[in-house]
Amino acid sequence: MYNPPDYYLVDELLTDEHRLIRDSVREWVSREVVPIIDAAAQNHTFPEYLFKQMGEIGAFGPYIPEKYGGAGMDQITYGVIMTELERGDSAIRSAASVQTSLVMYPIYTFGSEEQRLKYLPKLASGDLIGCFGLTEPNYGSDPGGMLTKFEDRGDHYLLNGSKMWITNSPIADIAVVWAKNEDGIVQGLIVEKGMQGFTAPETKNKWSLRASITGELVFDNVKVPKENILPNVSGLKGPLKCLNSARYGIAWGAIGAAMDCYNTALQYSLERKQFKKPIASFQLQQKKLAEMLTEITKAQLLIWRLGMLRNNDQATPAQISMAKRNNVEMALKIARDSRQILGAMGISGDYPIMRHMMNLESVITYEGTHDIHLLITGFDITGIAAFE
Ligand SMILES: Cc1cc2nc3c(=O)[nH]c(=O)nc-3n(C[C@H](O)[C@H](O)[C@H](O)COP(=O)(O)OP(=O)(O)OC[C@H]3O[C@@H](n4cnc5c(N)ncnc54)[C@H](O)[C@@H]3O)c2cc1C
Repeated sequence: MYNPPDYYLVDELLTDEHRLIRDSVREWVSREVVPIIDAAAQNHTFPEYLFKQMGEIGAFGPYIPEKYGGAGMDQITYGVIMTELERGDSAIRSAASVQTSLVMYPIYTFGSEEQRLKYLPKLASGDLIGCFGLTEPNYGSDPGGMLTKFEDRGDHYLLNGSKMWITNSPIADIAVVWAKNEDGIVQGLIVEKGMQGFTAPETKNKWSLRASITGELVFDNVKVPKENILPNVSGLKGPLKCLNSARYGIAWGAIGAAMDCYNTALQYSLERKQFKKPIASFQLQQKKLAEMLTEITKAQLLIWRLGMLRNNDQATPAQISMAKRNNVEMALKIARDSRQILGAMGISGDYPIMRHMMNLESVITYEGTHDIHLLITGFDITGIAAFE
């Protein structure tokens, strides 16, 4: 039975409904993810069959209205689901983050009613897999420089360019793609698998997020029907709003990975004996454990407050940057300290720590790098953008 730390009784801040959903996702992760995830990561394969199950447990679009297949729940619900999934693996949480925040969110927020009805229920159930194409080979932190573009050809748009580092792209049925129109303005297009000239080759040989599938999106004169443009947004604010939702979910998710590492290290330190004593009895190990729990507790309170602000539509992008940056760094440090507590066993796949640690090296970079989020906070404080 998985029993994560809750030092400040954060559980009491949740409603019965939050706890119910949290417990059912927790049970699913213990039953379906934990037993297979080490092998999936070792074999560098995404357990695709879990996608449909994630739809069944309500992991996709919890805050999207029920009319479109979501659960119509609040932002805290989305958060607690992300924490539970990332306890299993960041790859599983990434799949749910992309589907909810980067595919369902833009279709719901910027799409036409026809697009919402056509795609959202199937995305919510896991019958359709989506991906999000923003990053390009030469434009990562600076997406405004993107080269992918489309032209108006009368009865369709003609799309050309490429995206890389795209979670789920090789298995996706649809891609929300951000590209520039003839005036250089960024707009979103829904590109479907099977459209002529559209390919999504896999990116192999990753040392991180090995149980997630990543790839490119290549557009070679792809004819995109006019009804596939997202009509209600233009400019970079479209993708950036999606990233706000995803970054918020990551800040919750990272806590799940941190808790799994902490729990593992605590248990191990109580059982492992050296110099005739449990290693938990040595001050240096207690320091690590005490600091881990302190940081987890601070991260829990930070993200709960941010969730309440988001529920009231008050959270700013800079506040979200602060939480994503803080909580992912916290999780990565905890993974590193936990690995040391386990000594040699810390590198073994018999324990989840090394896998979480390697995953978090991607999580600290994607959806805005650690440094860029710091500069966003700096900009918010001073009014001076140090990243341009
Ligand atoms: C596993 C994985 C999955 C991903 N999934 C997706 C996805 O689904 N969709 C998608 O669109 N993208 C995805 N990405 C891409 C990710 O969002 C980018 O990697 C990220 O935005 C950083 O871009 P970059 O890697 O090109 O780094 P760069 O932008 O080249 O940055 C390199 C370094 O330079 C620093 N730097 C850059 N600019 C500045 C500056 N102005 N001041 C100071 N330092 C700076 C950065 O902080 C970083 O340390 C994924 C990435 C990974 C690893």
